[in-house]
Amino acid sequence: MQHRCICHTFAFVKAAEILGDHNLKRTSCREDIIKAIMGSDVALSTDEIRKRMAGDYDRTTLYRSFKTLESSHILHKIVVDGQTVKYALGDTGPENPGHVHFYCNKCHTVICLEDVPNLKYDLPDGFSYNETDVLIKGICPRCREKGEDDAEN
Ligand SMILES: [Zn+2]
Ligand SMILES: [Zn+2]
Repeated sequence: MQHRCICHTFAFVKAAEILGDHNLKRTSCREDIIKAIMGSDVALSTDEIRKRMAGDYDRTTLYRSFKTLESSHILHKIVVDGQTVKYALGDTGPENPGHVHFYCNKCHTVICLEDVPNLKYDLPDGFSYNETDVLIKGICPRCREKGEDDAEN
């Protein structure tokens, strides 16, 4: 429990710092969202984030905060199969091609593979680059350990 407390304090300081770095006003909702995501090693859906947030916010406040954090490139969004939306910290965009994402077919977890950068593709003339969105699907280490990779897929 002690360990958890320290993390929480750390996240609080960092969340405020992150907002300051992006010239955003500190609001408890924005800070709560950042803290919730920081406390997780996998990308989270809005529902999962809401459950981890200290405060209770109405949908509009939440929606606006997500929009702000996303357009300020504090969060990035990962969309799986056009329907599951997950959020993680960190920026991807034209200046920063970012990293690939991994989707586990078993536990439906989305993980940022920060050490696996997106490739910079050479595009034919006339095409302009905006972003690369790579989602690798497979079985995550945790599920493989459980031996669930040989089950139906
Ligand atoms: Zn898994
Ligand atoms: Zn990511």
